[in-house]
Amino acid sequence: MRPLNELLQTDDFTSRHIGPTEAEQAEMLAALGVSSLDELVESTLPESIRFGGELQVGGPVTEAQALADLKAVAAKNKVFRSYIGMGYSGTHVPPVILRNMLENPGWYTAYTPYQAEISQGRLEMLLNFQQMVMDLTGMPVSNASLLDEATAAAEAMTLARRQVKSKGNVFYVADDVHPQTLDVVRTRAEYFGYEVATGPANGDIPEGTFAILVQTPGTYGDLHDLSPIAERIHAAQGALIVATDLLACALVTPPGEQGADIVIGSAQRFGVPMGFGGPHAAFLACRSEYQRSMPGRVIGVSKDARGKTALRMAMQTREQHIRREKATSNICTAQALLANMAAAYAVYHGPEGIRTIAERVHRLTGILARFLAEAGVEVVTGNFFDTLTFKGDSVAIRARAEAKGINLRYEGDLISVSLDETVAPADVEDLIEVITGTRQNDQGQEFKVLSEYQHKFISGIPEALERTSPYLTHPVFNTHHSESAMLRYLKTLENRDYSLVHGMIPLGSCTMKLNATAEMIPVTWPEFGNLHPFAPADQTQGYAQMLTELEAWLADITGYDAVSLQPNSGAQGEYAGLLTIRKYHESRGEGHRTVCLIPASAHGTNPASAAMLGMQVVVVKTDANGNIDLDDLRAKAEQHSANLGALMITYPSTHGVYEEHVTEVCEIIHAHGGQVYLDGANMNAMVGLAKPGLIGSDVSHLNLHKTFAIPHGGGGPGMGPIGVKAHLAPFLPNHEVRPVSESHTGAVSAAPFGSASILPISYLYIRLLGPAGLKKATQVALLNANYIAKKLGGAFPVLYTGRHERVAHECILDIRPLKQASGITEEDIAKRLMDYGFHAPTMSFPVPGTLMIEPTESEPKAELDRFIDAMLNIRREIQEVQDGLLKAEDSPLRHAPHTQDDLMADEWNRAYSRETAAFPTRAQRAWKYWPAVNRVDNVYGDRNFVCSCPPMEEWVGV
Ligand SMILES: *Cc1c(COP(=O)(O)O)cnc(C)c1O
Repeated sequence: MRPLNELLQTDDFTSRHIGPTEAEQAEMLAALGVSSLDELVESTLPESIRFGGELQVGGPVTEAQALADLKAVAAKNKVFRSYIGMGYSGTHVPPVILRNMLENPGWYTAYTPYQAEISQGRLEMLLNFQQMVMDLTGMPVSNASLLDEATAAAEAMTLARRQVKSKGNVFYVADDVHPQTLDVVRTRAEYFGYEVATGPANGDIPEGTFAILVQTPGTYGDLHDLSPIAERIHAAQGALIVATDLLACALVTPPGEQGADIVIGSAQRFGVPMGFGGPHAAFLACRSEYQRSMPGRVIGVSKDARGKTALRMAMQTREQHIRREKATSNICTAQALLANMAAAYAVYHGPEGIRTIAERVHRLTGILARFLAEAGVEVVTGNFFDTLTFKGDSVAIRARAEAKGINLRYEGDLISVSLDETVAPADVEDLIEVITGTRQNDQGQEFKVLSEYQHKFISGIPEALERTSPYLTHPVFNTHHSESAMLRYLKTLENRDYSLVHGMIPLGSCTMKLNATAEMIPVTWPEFGNLHPFAPADQTQGYAQMLTELEAWLADITGYDAVSLQPNSGAQGEYAGLLTIRKYHESRGEGHRTVCLIPASAHGTNPASAAMLGMQVVVVKTDANGNIDLDDLRAKAEQHSANLGALMITYPSTHGVYEEHVTEVCEIIHAHGGQVYLDGANMNAMVGLAKPGLIGSDVSHLNLHKTFAIPHGGGGPGMGPIGVKAHLAPFLPNHEVRPVSESHTGAVSAAPFGSASILPISYLYIRLLGPAGLKKATQVALLNANYIAKKLGGAFPVLYTGRHERVAHECILDIRPLKQASGITEEDIAKRLMDYGFHAPTMSFPVPGTLMIEPTESEPKAELDRFIDAMLNIRREIQEVQDGLLKAEDSPLRHAPHTQDDLMADEWNRAYSRETAAFPTRAQRAWKYWPAVNRVDNVYGDRNFVCSCPPMEEWVGV
């Protein structure tokens, strides 16, 4: 009979998370000529960096236990009715969107749509997002989301500086912009060298102002008349940036019709939970003249090889890979999933529905305003949409409110109340009771909004500011209003896209691992989802506990002393880390240390982040093996010794190898007074085996959406917390509204803990695996990558290897020799893989003409073998071209991907069969993924830039 502890084994999460079984691992290890995972690590990882101890983290526990425990932690959060406003509103997530998008791996496990042919679904929804933003704001172009409203304001500031004629240096911010927005803008402005001035929205504009940021409705609720402000700033050759609210835009003349040059804001209240601060999609729309330097991703319309309309990201990678140190924005991961949700909300409600919601919110606010006026309460807000600020006894009001489970905003004797779509007449009655202390009207009867105030309200929108222009007129916003129609529309889009539900996405540097269902479940618990980020601390104890534990675990895993959970992406983490370094140098009177050494192979966000902090990027060479050229590093460190601020390195390197000399590299930098920033995007090759803090670096970011199981959401959300050594801890980002430390450093994100509501995913990931499981995951990530390198190395040369010819967690296949011999490109291979049912590996990063493969530990051996089989078959197809059997331009590789349109065409005049086209191996007989369009013409789309929904005539609908 088996012992009890063995009978409990079926619930072990580690064996669910890790793809290959123990027996398969043994087989794969044998193929590599080693006998155990430990031996593989020994032959791969330099001794000097190895960590031999055990991680001090929670777990392992079973999925059922972990969820039960976390539920108890979540129960310590108190979900009050929130009227705090400040950019965060209650909203009803339409259940059809909740279940079929937010809780649906078909949507949330997809990657950024770089491979357009297998991403047409989310590209269409992101195009809807752009159209929605353009319509509501009245602007001609929009991007497809930014990280949050505050960083969108900061991006708008730098965009304006690049575009305007004014030579000025002053950025004027109206004093009723949300305080967290001002905080982030100040942080950013400092190292761009801009002076931030504040004053009334319609105040005198100081000499030398290049742009002005006005918020309407303002943080206290005031609607501003923008036209006179626009006139004045345009007369000074500057730009008007407007922060606005999409729901208000349904009723109020949009900023675009009042002279705004850039419009930003958050799309949160369009059906995305508050989530204690995020994630939500911010938007940025601008005049057409600005479009080429607009930050973030823009979805554009183009055509495919058959001439059919096809979508793709416009002006792709211009920021990341081309501009590098000349970049003015480092945005990479954004908020695709949340932008998709907001767009779906607009598709579902349509223009009528959105207008009704806006009118309801405005009417109830107007009723409250009328009541306050009658009750003699001093309201300080002028024209309004959904927010009123008044004077009152905040101590008494607060006591009554909290007793009723209600949060208002309190600032001295000013009290603000902000309404949203979830507010009903009974809630307004509660508000009246809280504000006046009684539920009774002057006749001594219980006060009733519906009967007494049906026709008694103040309109907050003056006639001159009433919106008259139509919006959301495109058919997509006027078709899917029944749940059946909406469900099918969402499903149709989902079915066009390749995600982890179909097969592996072996994108190097992106770590597309399992996002376990158990990890995802708490994200939509109301205890995590419905908290306002500025709710009082005694209501957020559950979050506090979880965040504190997560911080401690991440500190232990990385070997650092302190962690900041504020940055919303890896690139924001880089920015926050370098900011911390700059503040540290300044505190020691060494603010002149602004030189940043970065290896040539670095990810594009590294030099972009350094540039945003006013640092001078000096490129360090890499040697023939892909390692940092130590001689060049020494020489550059020596040369810039007096001003050396930092080195940014990625470990293991972006070349996918563990460099042997990393500790020496750190020592050289420290000897010259610099700090070491270790980009932790490749942490999946280190967890449990090595710690950045022990190697000698001072600060790192982690991409929780890579290593720690947060899904990529089709291009976001993400989280990029940073870990630092103790000497940097006093300089971590703080937060104006909810201080998170003693430091004097400003905020880098709108919310104090970034996108807090997705942190349960990483928390559970760590707890489910526990110390041994985490280490094993890393080991199997190495095993899977080395197995692929071994099996494919004979057909495609592996570009870089470390000790014993091993790679780390990813490998780069060099396509250049084949390209020379056959004319077949890495892009042809990437597109051809779609015919075999795969998402391509990372193309041409970090080396042009290569493919970088990262399988992660989660891929089962059968899937690895299916991929290997596909790649070897592709190699044979290339050989046929090499052997002159058919020309490159006639090969299935060049015509890939093949669509149903291709196969169904009456004529077939290709040099290969239909079967070869779409069913090249047996695997596609069992299951076939059909790309929605043929190869997309990127150049055509960039030359004929269109970022709005295609016109009626071209709109096929579904
Ligand atoms: C992914 C990645 C980044 C950027 O992270 P985001 O979360 O997309 O901003 C930075 N460096 C490296 C090496 C990466 O792979």
